[in-house]
Amino acid sequence: MLEIHDIHTYYGSIHALKGVSLKINEKEIVCLIGANGAGKTTTLMSLSGVYRPRRGSITFLGEDITKLASEKIVARGITQVPEGRMIFPRLTVRENLMMGAYLRNDSEGIEADEERAYELFPILAERRRQPGGTLSGGEQQMLAIGRALMARPKLLLLDEPSLGLAPIVVENIFEVIQSINQEGTTVLLVEQNAQMALQIAHRGYVLATGSVQLEGTSADLTANPQVRAAYLGLD
Ligand code: ATP
Repeated sequence: MLEIHDIHTYYGSIHALKGVSLKINEKEIVCLIGANGAGKTTTLMSLSGVYRPRRGSITFLGEDITKLASEKIVARGITQVPEGRMIFPRLTVRENLMMGAYLRNDSEGIEADEERAYELFPILAERRRQPGGTLSGGEQQMLAIGRALMARPKLLLLDEPSLGLAPIVVENIFEVIQSINQEGTTVLLVEQNAQMALQIAHRGYVLATGSVQLEGTSADLTANPQVRAAYLGLD
């Protein structure tokens, strides 16, 4: 479905991605793990058109999207849930959800997807008239995921959905990510919480200083001594 081939992304003269390559098959959950500053967010931003790689290519559903603008990439079916959620604090929960559907005009489909978001996250239904800014961190993360789903993505990009949340909330959100995937949405999950990410992902990539250090099935990565010591805190 998606193939990133040898991308190099820079911030001015800082060479942040030094030849990252990865593949995602349809219906997979693939995780990207790695320490702070390894290049996980930069990989997502390169993929969603926020930063343009200086070299390399990105192919989605057989078409080269390397040079497309962000909104065109969204229109092709790739939606990102950014780190820090970035919800609109003054808009209500419902209005936030609707922002995710800004490229659509099929009102029945939009309505059905709004209901689907409330089924996935019942707390959002209770709070639908409340300003987004009054939600807890976990609820805001749910809202950010719900909003991304309103674009009916084929590939959902999640940047650190567990960040700053209590373990029980993280578990709930990860269960929903699994349900979304089981219903047919492909997922690329960026996480510092490698343990949680490897529990739900089919495969994973380990990034270190701007390159892929390791890749494999989640079972292989979980059994890998290097991953266990550096990212899972196990021996
Ligand atoms: P984190 O979990 O902290 O977000 P990460 O793996 O997502 O880490 P990136 O944010 O992709 O890492 O950062 C990769 C490298 O690029 C780091 O060395 C970082 O300092 C640098 N970097 C990231 N954003 C910028 C920026 N806007 N300007 C300059 N350098 C940046």
